[in-house]
This record gives sequence, C-alpha cells and structure tokens, in this order.
Amino acid sequence: MNQSSPNLIWREQVPMARHLTWRAGGKARNFFIPLTLEALQKKLSHWHSSQSLLWLGAGSNLLIRDGGIEQTVIAYRRALGWFRIAGQGVFEIGAGVPCARIARRTADLGWSGCEYMIGIPGLLGGALAMNAGAHGTQTWDHVEAVQVMDRCGQIYWRDANEFQPGYRHVSRPDNEWFIGARLVLKQGMPTSIHDRIIQILSTRRKSQPIGQASAGSVFRNPPGHSAGKLIEAAGLKGRSFHQAQISPHHANFIINHGGASADAIEFLIHLVIKEVNRTSGIDLQPEVHIMGLPAEQRTKHL
Ligand SMILES: Cc1cc2nc3c(=O)[nH]c(=O)nc-3n(C[C@H](O)[C@H](O)[C@H](O)COP(=O)(O)OP(=O)(O)OC[C@H]3O[C@@H](n4cnc5c(N)ncnc54)[C@H](O)[C@@H]3O)c2cc1C
Repeated sequence: MNQSSPNLIWREQVPMARHLTWRAGGKARNFFIPLTLEALQKKLSHWHSSQSLLWLGAGSNLLIRDGGIEQTVIAYRRALGWFRIAGQGVFEIGAGVPCARIARRTADLGWSGCEYMIGIPGLLGGALAMNAGAHGTQTWDHVEAVQVMDRCGQIYWRDANEFQPGYRHVSRPDNEWFIGARLVLKQGMPTSIHDRIIQILSTRRKSQPIGQASAGSVFRNPPGHSAGKLIEAAGLKGRSFHQAQISPHHANFIINHGGASADAIEFLIHLVIKEVNRTSGIDLQPEVHIMGLPAEQRTKHL
C-alpha cells in the first residue's frame, strides 16, 4: 500500500538498494517519509512501542541483507532540514542536513571546524550516530548539545556531556534518536577555510574510489593499525565476488560494480575477517552496520 498526504509519504516493499550508497540489499516492508517534524512526532506517538524502527540517514554506512528488513524505516531527511544561526559561531542544525552542506555553509559564513565533513556522504543524524570523522576531527568535537526524539515523539535537548562518543560510535538510549544538534565553531578566514576544503577533497580523490557504489571504510582501524593495510597484506586487494570487489584503489572499501547482492558484499566482509585473522592474528570489526534477513528468509517474512 502506498499513501501520500501533504505531510508524509508511506510506502511498502521498498527496495533499500535505492536508498543505500552500496546500491544493494533487500526490501523494507514499511518505509515512512515524514515531510514535517510534526508528522514524524505524530506517527511516533501513535505507533505501538513494540514497533521496531530503523532511522535512515543517507544510507552511507548500512548494509541491508537481501531478505529485507522488518523494521519500519524512517527516512527523516526532508523533515529535519533546518539550519539556524543561533549566535556567534553557534549553529542549530537538523539531522536531515547533509554533512557536505554543513561544511560549505559554515565555511561561507567564516566559521571553521566542519571542513572534514565535506567528504562524508551522510546526514548530520548519521554523523552523530556514528561519530563520523576524518582528517583528525570527529562529529562530537563540536557538539554542545543534541536534540533527541523519543519513542512517543517527545523532543528534548541533551547536553553533549551526557554522551560518551568513541571511535565511530556513540552510546544513546535505545528509544531516542537524534533530530538535530547545536554545533559551536571557531572563527576563521573564509578563504583559508575554503582552501582546507579543497585540499581535503583533493586528498580524498587521490586515496579513495570516489564515485563508485560503496559504504566508505568497511572496517574500523584496530588500535595502532590500518585496516586497509592489513587487508592488502592479506593479499585481498582487488579480490572480487559476483560484482562485488575489494577496491584495488583502497582495500578497506568494497565496491558494488552494479548488480552485486548484499550477500556477495557480506561474503567479502567475512572473507576479509577470516584472512586478516589468519595472516595477522588481528580481528577486524566492521564499521558498517549490517542488518536485515538473509535472502533465504525473504519469502517467509516479507
Ligand atoms: C564514499 C564514502 C566515504 C566515507 N567517508 C567517511 C569518512 O571519512 N569518515 C566517516 O566517519 N565515515 C565515512 N563514511 C561512512 C558514512 O558516510 C558515515 O558513517 C556517515 O556518518 C553515515 O551517515 P548516514 O546519514 O549515511 O547514516 P546511515 O548510513 O543512514 O545510518 C548509519 C547508522 O546510524 C543510524 N542513524 C542514522 N540517523 C540516525 C539518527 N538521526 N539518530 C540515531 N541513529 C541514526 C542508523 O540507524 C544506522 O544504524 C563514508 C562513506 C562513503 C560511502
């Protein structure tokens, strides 16, 4: 059943491949696109608390298995798109704003701190959830407070001190999600901030397979090691399986050359874990979130 009203769009059986940067994966049984904050609040307040939810940002750190996903997907981008100047160097930004836009807008206004976001293809909500980072800066470095929504649609401000962000992770209560944040930035010269952005983009173009379907770095770097170098040392750079390939450009990326299944991507993920452990004794941990049902369970559940 597909339903639309001025405030929301509701779809069933939505191929998640359309919504993930890996361009692979099964279907979502229920896919909800709130178009306003109020529509999101209202739906949450009506749903039974047992209804399991997946908040979807830009889908740039997610693999949904081929059997699909039973959680109701909330694609919040369009409802949470505000960008407000709240003081000198203080910005209140909705979770639906893309990281690259934050980098450019704050740079245009002469505030420094978000330059690293230029190459991160996620939304602020996903960046908060993952504590996304690059070039020595992480999302929570500039967060003063976050705005969260609970399972009943209530909104609260929480001080950043209430969270303990770590490497590509932050713990949050199970039934609260980020709807925005207050960032505090440092004043800088717009030209030098823009120069830094250009430099970051150029470094990424040289070191990463930009423009190909991927989820960025698949594995966390173990303390003192580079996951990419360990994968390369295990002889896996360039290895492919059914249209999925460990990038010959950057071994911590897995590329979908078109038509790869989530299963093929997950096969390579398990191959990497096994071979890196065999060759180095190190257990790599995926940075990407892997969810959903294996393909063989598809007909039973969806
Ligand atoms: C080419 C490429 C380059 C990348 N480079 C980097 C990089 O340099 N540094 C880096 O850290 N990452 C990088 N990534 C990974 C990814 O972009 C980041 O992890 C990003 O922060 C994910 O944001 P998203 O909006 O896409 O989140 P999604 O992938 O949609 O979601 C990721 C997780 O966060 C949860 N989540 C999403 N929104 C919310 C919310 N509002 N509240 C609570 N939970 C939420 C989701 O449920 C999911 O579990 C890269 C990815 C690609 C494809």
